[in-house]
Amino acid sequence: MKDVLKFKKFRSTIMFFLLFVMIGVWRWASTNNLFYLIIFGYIGFAIAIGSILNITLSKKRKHWGRKTTQLMIGFFMIGFLGFIGNENMQIEGFFFYLFSGIFAGATLHYLIAKIAGPLYFGRAWCGGACWTAMVLDFLPWVKPKYPRNKKLEIIRYFHFLASLLLVVFLFYVLEYKENDYPSKELVWMIIGNIAYYIIAIFLAFGFKDNRAFCKYVCPIPVTQKLTAYFAVLKQKVDTEKCTECGLCEINCPMDIKILQYVKEGKRILSTECILCNTCADICPTNAIKTTSGFDFQFKEYIN
Ligand code: SF4
Ligand code: SF4
Ligand code: SF4
Repeated sequence: MKDVLKFKKFRSTIMFFLLFVMIGVWRWASTNNLFYLIIFGYIGFAIAIGSILNITLSKKRKHWGRKTTQLMIGFFMIGFLGFIGNENMQIEGFFFYLFSGIFAGATLHYLIAKIAGPLYFGRAWCGGACWTAMVLDFLPWVKPKYPRNKKLEIIRYFHFLASLLLVVFLFYVLEYKENDYPSKELVWMIIGNIAYYIIAIFLAFGFKDNRAFCKYVCPIPVTQKLTAYFAVLKQKVDTEKCTECGLCEINCPMDIKILQYVKEGKRILSTECILCNTCADICPTNAIKTTSGFDFQFKEYIN
């Protein structure tokens, strides 16, 4: 019986690992390239390690599970696929590959992590894998000092549009050539990422909020949020266990009004939730769990 209970704890870890291995096998079989199995096997392994650490470490140290996955995937994406594989993993690279009709690693990455995947795991990419956030999460303001400035969120939409128009201009007006690729793509990626890191760190210090860049400037949530509304995996508060102490809400890096969802008897339906588990790790009564279900609402409760 004890063994069964132990297995239950690791069931979703094993399922996630197998899911990534299966994607790897599918890509390997359809492209005859074993490399895909290695990539997806590695990503599944990184998620499994983080998840095992999260399950087994003490409450105070649980966040190291997420950080381990974040570092393992983040460095791999930017270092291996980007710098060694010469792929532009920025959003402009994704647009460029789409216009060029190239099915590159970046295309698959966007489809899985940022467009279709959020239908299942919401914005977990932002909570546990993004290479920009893996640096931001080591800055001092894990808990934002001030409430979110909702008006500034419009910047992310302008950023998205500007990135798209830039690629349209390069591709259709300047006839940016496919045979210039990949060296130019690498230059784009290096410049783009340096700019992202500088702006993101500057904003974190300016707003005293590690995730200010994610809230206001990053263009990724523009598409990611559309599918994240319908995410199967969301955080749920057990109202029987919740004492309404408010600790989860105060510590949420994305300023989500968790207690408003509790009051309405809903899961945390906000598409700003990045499934970072900070709320669950800090809850003194272990009232918060990631659960599966089908529910959504377009109204966001944000502080
Ligand atoms: S919002 Fe952008 S920068 Fe922030 S975690 Fe998500 S993808 Fe990374
Ligand atoms: S930290 Fe736990 S007990 Fe406190 S309000 Fe949040 S869910 Fe309820
Ligand atoms: S609600 Fe919880 S899991 Fe979601 S962003 Fe806030 S702290 Fe992270």
